[in-house]
Amino acid sequence: KPHLVLTGVHRHYGEGDTIVRVLEAANLTVQSGEMVALVAPSGAGKSTLLHLSGLLESPQGGEVEITGVKTSKLGDRGRTQLRRSTVGYVYQFHHLLPEFTALENVTMPQLIAGKPQAEADRRSMELLDLLGVGQRASHRPAELSGGEQQRVAIARAAANRPKVILADEPTGNLDPETSDLVFAALGSLIKSEGAAALIATHNHDLARKADRIVTLRNGLVVDHSL
Ligand code: ADP
Ligand code: ADP
Repeated sequence: KPHLVLTGVHRHYGEGDTIVRVLEAANLTVQSGEMVALVAPSGAGKSTLLHLSGLLESPQGGEVEITGVKTSKLGDRGRTQLRRSTVGYVYQFHHLLPEFTALENVTMPQLIAGKPQAEADRRSMELLDLLGVGQRASHRPAELSGGEQQRVAIARAAANRPKVILADEPTGNLDPETSDLVFAALGSLIKSEGAAALIATHNHDLARKADRIVTLRNGLVVDHSL
């Protein structure tokens, strides 16, 4: 099932002489359980593509479809609601709340979404275990290594069972060995949750471990092998 579909997406910034055309007729489909790596030079439009996919920005043309919902006809509230119920985001820097334990950091978005405490705790432990940081549940972020912090951040992004997981350089801040570990953990999470994932990375070795690599060229999303 395609959870994320971009069709003929057009996005530019500015106008006239200073116009920057980032995406001109971009197409991209990411299936449930599929991990797509986005590898492109700085300034090519990776963040723009992630923001459009995460409904933080709107395209000037084309359609962004999440879980079959066409978003071009939605208003701001509809987009925000759809984003909150379907998108999980992993940042380069984890942005965990320092005063709260790993478990509490993962539980919080679920409580905000209205889930009962016991159920949220159960789900959090399931995710922390899956990512190999279950034994760190009661530690605060400062007591965790960089790789552990990032795995907790991944658990938090997945807490509300997003159908689409977006990540912007999720291992950009980690050493190569830890990057491998975190990327593999993210991969197994995506498979077991059946989420569609788009992951921007500069790391070619990691990208090769994704199901597919895409890049940005002339305003299009193209298969890396082409
Ligand atoms: P990447 O994430 O690959 O580095 P971005 O998506 O951030 O690329 O940016 C793509 C291009 O669009 C760049 O030339 C950037 O300067 C331009 N751009 C991005 N956001 C804006 C904006 N809000 N206003 C003007 N130009 C922008
Ligand atoms: P809240 O205020 O409830 O945290 P937001 O509207 O800020 O909700 O974000 C909703 C969803 O969008 C979250 O899953 C968040 O991780 C994701 N998100 C945040 N930043 C980005 C981004 N730059 N691109 C795509 N999605 C994002």
